[in-house]
Amino acid sequence: MRKLNISGNWKLNKTLAETKALLAVLKSELAGVKKTEIVVCPTYVSLATSAEMLIDSNIKLGAQNLFWEESGAFTGEVSGLQLKAIGCNYVIIGHSERRQYFGETDETVNKRLKSALQNELLPIVCVGETLEEREIGKTFDIISEQVQGALSGISKDEMQKITLAYEPVWAIGTGKTATPEQAQEVHAFIREKLTKLFGNSVAENVTIQYGGSVKPSNAYELLSQNDIDGALVGGASLDVESFAAIVQAAENIEG
Ligand code: PEP
Repeated sequence: MRKLNISGNWKLNKTLAETKALLAVLKSELAGVKKTEIVVCPTYVSLATSAEMLIDSNIKLGAQNLFWEESGAFTGEVSGLQLKAIGCNYVIIGHSERRQYFGETDETVNKRLKSALQNELLPIVCVGETLEEREIGKTFDIISEQVQGALSGISKDEMQKITLAYEPVWAIGTGKTATPEQAQEVHAFIREKLTKLFGNSVAENVTIQYGGSVKPSNAYELLSQNDIDGALVGGASLDVESFAAIVQAAENIEG
């Protein structure tokens, strides 16, 4: 049984003071959670303080991106080396908002992924099709290309440290969720693709999160699907009650 992973992507939200307040409540609210891996990903400027606040808690810390070089003349960038040094455990890579607004490609996702692994960060690699791609029947081609491109040159050992997140772009921040069947279909396809690339025993152990308007009302049904091993949560992760209820849904899954 794969450990379920519920990660909150806070995107460009919360000042440092607001981050501290939210984390303080989350820590006490989620203190009793035993089975589920919980991750929060605040903005860069709040990471160092968050790391200190989360020492000795059951909540892991993630960044929302990283640059592939470790240091040098790259104004405005933040490296994996720096993220690891302040106590980050995870890093999100290739989120669709980065692909859409910041020119992220499968090639740059792959470079970031390799840098994350070199710096012993646990990567969460996002893939997903747009509405247009789904409507013209291209979902599986796009997912296949993105998975293959992101994971190019990755070894079996490295694959075991990587989490994938299937996030249909049309479901992110829109309130439209993929049905559990639609999501399961793509998750099963991704696992099949991983089996071809890395073999069955590796593929069976990879955590594949679903992301796209996950909320307390749909979390349990999504998480009950065979190949859905967690959630990457945007909007609902900013609200303590909603995030805690999604984590609780994961805790309630048998196994
Ligand atoms: C996300 O940004 O990863 C996401 C899934 O957002 P939301 O939950 O708001 O759709």
